[in-house]
Order: sequence, then structure tokens, then C-alpha cells
Amino acid sequence: MPLTQEQLAEIEAQRASPRQTLRAVSEGMEKHLYTAQPVLDHGFVRAIDYMGDDSAIVQAARVSYGAGTKHVQNDEGLIRYLMRHWHSTPFEMCEVKLHIKLPVFVARQWIRHRTANVNEYSARYSILDREFYIPAPEHLAAQSTINNQGRGEVLQGEEAARVLALLKSDAAQMYDNYEAMLSQDGQQGLARELARMNLPMNIYTQWYWKTDLHNLFHFLRLRADSHAQYEIRVYAEAIAAMTADWVPLAYAAFEDYRMGGATLSSKAIDVLKRMLKGEEVTRETSGMSVGEWREFQAVIADPA
Ligand SMILES: Cc1cc2nc3c(=O)[nH]c(=O)nc-3n(C[C@H](O)[C@H](O)[C@H](O)COP(=O)(O)OP(=O)(O)OC[C@H]3O[C@@H](n4cnc5c(N)ncnc54)[C@H](O)[C@@H]3O)c2cc1C
Repeated sequence: MPLTQEQLAEIEAQRASPRQTLRAVSEGMEKHLYTAQPVLDHGFVRAIDYMGDDSAIVQAARVSYGAGTKHVQNDEGLIRYLMRHWHSTPFEMCEVKLHIKLPVFVARQWIRHRTANVNEYSARYSILDREFYIPAPEHLAAQSTINNQGRGEVLQGEEAARVLALLKSDAAQMYDNYEAMLSQDGQQGLARELARMNLPMNIYTQWYWKTDLHNLFHFLRLRADSHAQYEIRVYAEAIAAMTADWVPLAYAAFEDYRMGGATLSSKAIDVLKRMLKGEEVTRETSGMSVGEWREFQAVIADPA
């Protein structure tokens, strides 16, 4: 259960008192405001605030291009043009502030995205909850044999049961020790800032995370990608779905050019041209490395 009764009541109260505004409003995002989207076993993502919508991007672009934008017939065409040509600053005119609850090891990956503003729950000031991420059995997988940074087959039977039991008992024991060190019952009690240091990386933390749409797209491009670790990918996917509702035109352009698109090297373009002329190009005659060739094949492969 990711939300306490208190938090649910708070969300209900926030949603029960709408205010009138002259600011740009995205109907798609309004339905998400304050509500929590559950992620993993105890985590969530919820939108706290946002600024701008698709028209804010267009408005900013028209300031820079002025009459030059007249040849672009509509907002959708202009947004697609901006995305296609990496004209990124108009996308920075939109911002979003999210409240996220996530395991510490996911937070470590997430915090590498420096172009955001973050305010995290203080475990110096407050006591962390007894909440740990325990993977669902279908996500408990072995080390991949083809990708050093990934997982392979799902663990089965006795091994899966042993791993799950270890994860649960370690977390429980460490939290028991955390409480024992903090306790002021017949002792001084260790400071919270020190007692936290033996807690495992699957304990949950929370933060407010604010970023602009350009940098959010960069985050989603990397973390909603199928190669990203599952535990951060599910957060990115929840945010992506929210973003599609918030700025539908910009998100569609992002999906088309970034998530669904590919960057080709000059070698790859040359190979494609040779193929289109009917030449049978092999890895050896392509001039590409094994890795480049594999990735190129993945781009041009017929999904059927
Ligand atoms: C699949 C995957 C595997 C990874 N593996 C590792 C790993 O093994 N080890 C590891 O340490 N990290 C790893 N990372 C993290 C990765 O290297 C980046 O730190 C992370 O993805 C954030 O990207 P970013 O720096 O572009 O984003 P942001 O920090 O949001 O920055 C956005 C852009 O702003 C610019 N920028 C921001 N700050 C600076 C700065 N100080 N100086 C110059 N330019 C700046 C850059 O152009 C940057 O691309 C991995 C990431 C992924 C997606």
C-alpha cells in the first residue's frame, strides 16, 4: 500500500478545492494533479504542479521566429519542426513538479540527471519507514550472459525462493537494528543521521523533483527505454503517460523523433544508400564494428 490514509485524505482535500486561474491549463494534466500513480510495491509518482502546455511551446517559438513561423500551418507542425531540428528552448518553457517515492538504489540512478531541482526526505531529521522494495517473482532474474548491464532468465524454484527469503530477512533484520540503535529506551539512542547508515538500498525514500520539459524528455529517452533497468523504467513509463496527457502534441513529436526514431552515423547512411541501390552489404563490407552492425540491423530489421 503506497499511500497512507492520511496522504489519501490530503490528496482528496487538495482536489476538492479548485481555484480559478488566468494561467494556461492543460486539461489532461489537471486530472493527474495531486493523485498518486502506484509504482513498484510501495512507490508512487504524483504531479504536484506544472507550468505551460503545448501552446506555451508554440508561443515561445513564435517569439524567436516571429513572422518566420507563418509558413508552418499549425501548432502541431511547429512543435514537430522544433523537435526535429533540436530547437529545444521552447520546450524548456514548460515545467513539472513531481512527488516521487522510490527505492534508494533507483534514486541513485535518477539523481544522475542533474538538470532538475530536488528536495529529498531527510533521514537526519525523520525516521525512515519500514518499507523495502522486494521484486515480484517475475522480476527476480539472473545476470544476463550477453549484457553486463542487464538481467537474463527469471530465477526459478528453490533459488528464487532462497533469494526472496534473503531479501526479506536482511531488510527486516537491518530495520530491527536501526530501531534498536535509535531507541531511547534505557539508552541515549544513536543519532538518526548515523543510525540510517546500515539500512539497505531497497529502502524507500521520497523527493520532490522539478524539471522542464526538454530535460524531462531527455530523462524519459534514457529511462523509459527498453534497455533501462526495470525498476527505474516503470517510474519513467508512469511519468511518460502523464506527460502524454499534459502536452499531447509535444509528447507525440517526442515519441516519433526520439523514442521511436534512431540516429544514423554517416557510415550507416552510406550502407543504407548502397542497400537501396541493390547491393548486398555485409558487416565486413560495411566498415562498421560488430556492435555498430548489430545495432544498425536492429534499426532496419523488419519486425515481421
Ligand atoms: C543505460 C545507462 C547506463 C548508465 N551507466 C552508468 C554507469 O555505469 N556509471 C555512471 O556513472 N553512470 C551511468 N549512467 C548515467 C549516465 O552516464 C548519465 O549520468 C545519466 O544518464 C544522466 O544523463 P545526463 O548527464 O545527460 O543528464 P543531465 O544531468 O540531466 O544533463 C543533461 C545534459 O546537460 C548537460 N550537462 C549537465 N550537467 C553538466 C555538467 N556538469 N557538465 C557538462 N554538461 C552538463 C549535458 O549535455 C547533459 O547531457 C548510465 C545511464 C544509462 C541510461
